[in-house]
Amino acid sequence: MRWSLALGSIRGTEIRIHITFLIFLVWLWMVYYGQGGAAAAWQGTAFIAIIFFCVLLHELGHVLAARRYGVPTRDVTLWPFGGIASMERMPDKPMEELVVAIAGPAVNVAIAAVLLLWVGPQLDPENLTAIENPSVSLAAKVAGANIILVLFNLIPAFPMDGGRVLRALLAMRLSNARATELAANIGQGFAVLFGILGLFYNPMLIVIAAFIFLAASGEASQAQLRAVAQGTLVSDAMITAFESLDTHATVADAADALIRTTQTEFPVVDAAGRLRGVLTRDAMVKALKQTGPATPVQEAMQTEIPTIHARASLDSALRALTEKRKPAVGVVDSEGKLIGLLTLENLGELMMINGARPQAGGGQAGPWSNLR
Ligand SMILES: [Zn+2]
Repeated sequence: MRWSLALGSIRGTEIRIHITFLIFLVWLWMVYYGQGGAAAAWQGTAFIAIIFFCVLLHELGHVLAARRYGVPTRDVTLWPFGGIASMERMPDKPMEELVVAIAGPAVNVAIAAVLLLWVGPQLDPENLTAIENPSVSLAAKVAGANIILVLFNLIPAFPMDGGRVLRALLAMRLSNARATELAANIGQGFAVLFGILGLFYNPMLIVIAAFIFLAASGEASQAQLRAVAQGTLVSDAMITAFESLDTHATVADAADALIRTTQTEFPVVDAAGRLRGVLTRDAMVKALKQTGPATPVQEAMQTEIPTIHARASLDSALRALTEKRKPAVGVVDSEGKLIGLLTLENLGELMMINGARPQAGGGQAGPWSNLR
């Protein structure tokens, strides 16, 4: 990931800090400095850094639980709005999803419990919410913040952890797609409610709520996409009207095709109709600048593009597309010839169409009929 620094790695998962997070810390330091001088600045910034360390441990809770079910995570990145674990997917079984979703908040429960036991008698219950009060010991404040993290995460609002817990519980009785839809609806209601509540109480709560909400919103669309994908065949979702380039084409030929069509990814296909690679618009522009229009497309294209059979489930294509970080997945027939393409943009359109389809009524034919 660009603009982020690697801190190290834990069992194959890189821990990264996004540059905006460092800027955020500097900005906080200056705000606190303006309010109370250098001592207040260091104290305030250290407190926020500790909270984010707890957020990081929370993410690692998810990551390590997911690893148990064979789901690897490339990295965990800290952003000013929270931590994001680039988990390749959620496990398919509801019970496993439940464990992975619970594992994050469980870490914060453990941190809070240890700190509270350690702080022990010096703590009175009022301090838990008075996290801006400087007289409250740091440990109690960190414990309080962890409790708030747990409470917010366990709001049954999809896409927060609590929403995933809810979804997993629902999925034990309902179809995957129906469980996701129901959890998403319940979540929307809760999100609005808590946003409003935050306005009237502690502003810190709004900030934390917003952070968590933003960090998790990507997961919502992922889960929705997955739910749609599980009930759809690759052949129902693939792009069939596209131009391909042959293996002898040059980048100039590709540039012509780019202008002639609305495509931004061009499959490079050999004489037997097999996919050899994909040339993206970015790679094309880069090649034009660096090596000129006569560059063979074979030198500029991305290779090792995953291919999938047209009769496979879209779910497996989605995995290939997101896990391998390739611009497209090639769709092939039984002879291995390229007959279609799947891109992220294409899947985004699929989601838009799916979102616009009528919710009520039945008997509709097509790929969506089995999703209700
Ligand atoms: Zn979480």
